[in-house]
Amino acid sequence: MAGQSLEFWTRLLHLPNFVVVHSQEELQPPRYCFTIAAEHRIGVCPRCNKASTEVHQTRTRERIVDLPISGYAVELKVCACQFLCDRCEVAFTPDVPFLAEGAHATDRFLERAAQLIRSSDVANVAKFFGLPEQTLARWYYDYVERRRAASSEPLKPITRIGIDELSLKKNIGSSSP
Ligand SMILES: [Zn+2]
Repeated sequence: MAGQSLEFWTRLLHLPNFVVVHSQEELQPPRYCFTIAAEHRIGVCPRCNKASTEVHQTRTRERIVDLPISGYAVELKVCACQFLCDRCEVAFTPDVPFLAEGAHATDRFLERAAQLIRSSDVANVAKFFGLPEQTLARWYYDYVERRRAASSEPLKPITRIGIDELSLKKNIGSSSP
């Protein structure tokens, strides 16, 4: 696959608002290493919502595992800009939405791994992706915990439980692993 353009890889990876700025192919073991960066160097200050294009520094998050492409493992190096808000005089780094919190993996990778783990087990799925079992186990349990926390959030404002919500809760309870 040598000679493919960066535009090709950008389209293939399909990570919103990020572009591939460097690609490297390794053969033993087969792996693509992509360096990706935000398409537009602009950030919105979390304090005052003012847009800033003043890049204070660039930070990289290395060795991020993404979904494999054919027989190749995919590893990302994500360049994230830290911006300076001249109004608040603070530096801030916008979230990279597709990166899983606390894991060296993308959200979509963890989503797929979690689906496989549910119908198999951590050991088999770790072997399939060529990852250490303990690493995948830690990512998986963190992922499940975050999902659980996120899905329970919308229920908080409910003060009076009606029939629909009761049956919904019952369904959630019975379908959880
Ligand atoms: Zn600001």
